[in-house]
Amino acid sequence: MVRLNEIRQNEVVVTPPATVDAELVFIGRISTPWTSRMETPRQGRSDGPVCTIEIFEPWVQALAGVERFERLEVLYWLHQSRRDLVLQSPASNGEVHGTFSLRSPVRPNPIGTSIVALEKIEGNRLFVRGLDCLDGTPLIDLKPDRTLFKPIAPPQKGDFETGQVHM
Ligand code: SAM
Repeated sequence: MVRLNEIRQNEVVVTPPATVDAELVFIGRISTPWTSRMETPRQGRSDGPVCTIEIFEPWVQALAGVERFERLEVLYWLHQSRRDLVLQSPASNGEVHGTFSLRSPVRPNPIGTSIVALEKIEGNRLFVRGLDCLDGTPLIDLKPDRTLFKPIAPPQKGDFETGQVHM
């Protein structure tokens, strides 16, 4: 069941802190076929519809080299989500799960992530498959899929550290 904003049986709501730790900048906007949370996929699929990611200025130059990656990781702000549940009932059946054990859009910082297949780039617009967000969802970041990316900077000490317990 898709939540709009209701609280379900056995769910627990908390009062979030009033202070803000970090300020985000929305770097673009995502266009998808979905205008209702009731119809949006639970998770994007690599053979799903082509969606468009528009990058705003002054960030367009940051797309240099992105075309080399056939898959990208997209981070977006699930702007219509409530942010105050710690126990949630995805099936709406009274059985609850901790927010951090779910990929629900309802979370203290409603960040969604998807691995998308890059079809093409035209100017400041990327055409991708694999998204699961509403039309108009704000974009937070884009990165190469980590399985395709090799760090360009030389390795440093921590890259060679294994197996130690750090308390
Ligand atoms: N793939 C992402 C992840 O795992 O982090 C998001 C998964 S989340 C389960 C996807 C659901 O979030 C959609 O089915 C829809 O109900 C909801 N959703 C999509 N876009 C949203 C938005 N802009 N604001 C609030 N909810 C949204």
